[in-house]
Amino acid sequence: MTKVFVAVDIEGVAGVVHVDEGSPGNPEYERARRLMTNEASAVVAGILDADPDAKVTVADVHGPYRNIIPELLDERATLLRGKPRHFGMMDGIDDGTYDRAIFIGVHGQSGSDDSVLSHTFTGTILDVKVNGKSWGELGLNAAMAGAYGVPVVLVSGDQSVVAETERVFGPGVPTVQVKTSRGHLTSESMHPHVACRLLREAAAEAIRNVPNVGPLTVDNPVTVEVTLNRPALADLAGMIDGMERIDGRTLRFSRPDFPNAYRVLRLITVLCSTPL
Ligand SMILES: [Zn+2]
Repeated sequence: MTKVFVAVDIEGVAGVVHVDEGSPGNPEYERARRLMTNEASAVVAGILDADPDAKVTVADVHGPYRNIIPELLDERATLLRGKPRHFGMMDGIDDGTYDRAIFIGVHGQSGSDDSVLSHTFTGTILDVKVNGKSWGELGLNAAMAGAYGVPVVLVSGDQSVVAETERVFGPGVPTVQVKTSRGHLTSESMHPHVACRLLREAAAEAIRNVPNVGPLTVDNPVTVEVTLNRPALADLAGMIDGMERIDGRTLRFSRPDFPNAYRVLRLITVLCSTPL
C-alpha cells in the first residue's frame, strides 16, 4: 500500500494568472478554487488507477489553506486544510508515514521572470538560500519531504516550474506543464480538462513506474539566508533567536536540521505579514 502526500497550490493551476484568483472574496477566486479542486481530484484518480489500495492525503497549501472545496474533491482522498499548521505547507509529512510526494499547482520562486505569480511563501521574501542554494517553495517543500525520506515523484505548473524542477532535483523528476507564462500575470494555458487528463495519466505513471529519484536531502546543520524586501521586516525577523544580520535586508540563521530551519522560515513568513 502506497501512501501519497499531494500538496496543491493554486498559482500553477491551468488557467490561473491573477492575484484575485487566489484571493478569497471575489467571483474569480470562486472559479479558480474549482479548477484547483479538479486538478487535485485528477491526481487522486491517477494514483488510485495505478494502486487501488493507495492512501492519499491532499494538502491544501495556498493562502488560507481553505481553497479546495471538500465535497467536490475525489472522495477517496482525505483533505488536510486550515491553518496555522506547525510545518506550514508540508505539515503532515512529519508523520513519517508517507512513501511519495506530488506537488501540483506549483509556482516559480521569488524573482522568476515569465512565471505567473512567482513568489516564495510571501511577496516580502526576495530570496532564500539553504546551504548556499537559492530555493523557492518547490525546493524548500521538497527538502521537508526529503527530511522524512519522501521523494517527490511529480510536479506541475508552468514552464518556469519545469525548469526549476530540473534545477532543484537534476533530471528525472516527471513534470506536467499546464501553461506557458508570458509574464508575471499572463500565460497561455491548456484547457483545464486537458490539464486534468494529463495530470491523471502522469500521477498513475509516477506510482506505477516510480521514477528513479531519491529524497532531496540537506546537509546538517542547515544554514539559511533570507533576504526580505524591507529592512523593517528584517528588524522584526531579527527578534527570533539566533538571527545574524548580514545587511539591511538579509538575515542568516543555522538550525540542527531542515525541519527546524523550515519552521523558522514559516515563522518569518508570518511575521512578514505584520502591518508596519
Ligand atoms: Zn499559493
